[in-house]
Amino acid sequence: MESTIQGNLAHIKGRIQEACLKAHRNRDEVRLLLATKTVDAERVQQVLDLGENLIGENKVQELKEKCPIYKDPIPEVHFIGHLQSNKIKEVIKWADCIESIDRLSLAEKLNNRLEFEQKKIDVFIQVNTSYEESKFGVAPEKAIDLIRSVSNLKNLNIKGLMTIGLFSAEPEKVRKCFQLLKKIQSEANALKIPGVSLNELSMGMSGDLEIAIEEGATIVRVGTAIFGQRIYPDSYYWNEGKPVTEA
Ligand SMILES: *Cc1c(COP(=O)(O)O)cnc(C)c1O
Repeated sequence: MESTIQGNLAHIKGRIQEACLKAHRNRDEVRLLLATKTVDAERVQQVLDLGENLIGENKVQELKEKCPIYKDPIPEVHFIGHLQSNKIKEVIKWADCIESIDRLSLAEKLNNRLEFEQKKIDVFIQVNTSYEESKFGVAPEKAIDLIRSVSNLKNLNIKGLMTIGLFSAEPEKVRKCFQLLKKIQSEANALKIPGVSLNELSMGMSGDLEIAIEEGATIVRVGTAIFGQRIYPDSYYWNEGKPVTEA
């Protein structure tokens, strides 16, 4: 069991290394985020013990169950799932960064709570670059407006953008999603909005991390290729039925 995880991790690191070489990028420009949904804390700890230090969770419930268990040095924790505003109080107890800001109402509520607690947090704006109904994320055309609005909320530090690429066997379609995220990053940075310097692009997963690295990813989020197949379908994490439209 352990050796499988160790082997998987080595394999993924090899793929990242290879992709960086091919894209003429420095290996240290790309961080590996362990996407740990459904993986129990003991198995995550095995990978942390091998020197990894960045994890991402999709559900607040899993955050609060697993985070207290991790040993020193405790990992940096990103929240990468759909965030409902009634979970804000919990999420900011555990997460160092929220990658899934996709609407102003959520950002404002988060900012209010942080103001109350006299805290700040790093955030990414999640963009729905594949235009799939089933995925969360702000529409690409509305991303700049959202970035501008979020930049006015002083307890949120916007660090970058996040996306989930199209699931497709056609790499060029997947690549378009990542190129679009990069384009939004460049446009936003060119506007020189006070307080906004988007340095991070969180994109690429087990199946498409090479393409994402070629297109400029600074964080790749990998689950299956390290921990194995999950029992729950991703739709359980990614749309939750998706009737949750908040005002
Ligand atoms: C599950 C998940 C990942 C990792 O996906 P794998 O295909 O298992 O590597 C990345 N990002 C998000 C937002 C996820 O929910």
